[in-house]
Amino acid sequence: MDIYRTARERMVETQIKMRGIKDDKVIKAMLKVPRHLFVEEALRDQAYGDFPLPIGEGQTISQPYIVALMTEALELKGTERVLEVGTGSGYQTAILAEIALWVYTIEKYPTLQERAKRILLQELNYRNITFKIGDGSLGWKEASPFDAIIVTAASPQIPPPLIEQLAEGGRIVIPVGDAFSQMLVKGVKKGGLLHTKNLEPVRFVKLIGAYGFKE
Ligand code: SAM
Repeated sequence: MDIYRTARERMVETQIKMRGIKDDKVIKAMLKVPRHLFVEEALRDQAYGDFPLPIGEGQTISQPYIVALMTEALELKGTERVLEVGTGSGYQTAILAEIALWVYTIEKYPTLQERAKRILLQELNYRNITFKIGDGSLGWKEASPFDAIIVTAASPQIPPPLIEQLAEGGRIVIPVGDAFSQMLVKGVKKGGLLHTKNLEPVRFVKLIGAYGFKE
């Protein structure tokens, strides 16, 4: 029995739908994925709260609404190959895996990705995710082009390799700014150029890498 189901339903009603998320696929995925499995046991009672939570290595699992907002902005239909930079807890990975054809996810910290991988593959049985440890600001050239790219850590710029590895017509969502003030930016690649628009102010941990922040 899923004792967290009521909390999950309440989360979707009050944090996701009431704030304007409309994509049915996103709503269904957030109703289905057991978010409490992605946080440590001592924090499970807070897993459906309206805030990020610590996951170790100084990193966080993002606030549910931000996961929904970023996923909706990717405009997934179900046929896409998606690159995720920043596996973290693996929760956003699961939401993507529910909707997209295939998810390629890169994480800087092996400890975090090992844990995420165990939950996603062994506990939840996803079969459409490929994992990699490394600097996601460089993208994943061998697996490119991607129909959608999501970056779940803040960067001073949109890393040029990610723009290169985005397919024509593809969407990228990324928080851009400094450590304290960031804007969630959506880009669409048209005619080889990225057309961007600002979604809303956000606060993410830093993307550490060649095209992100220095360590
Ligand atoms: N989407 C995640 C979730 O639902 O738990 C939240 C991820 S957390 C806000 C950002 C993640 O990006 C952290 O796990 C961090 O280690 C990772 N990260 C930071 N810089 C990175 C880089 N250059 N390449 C890959 N991952 C990176």
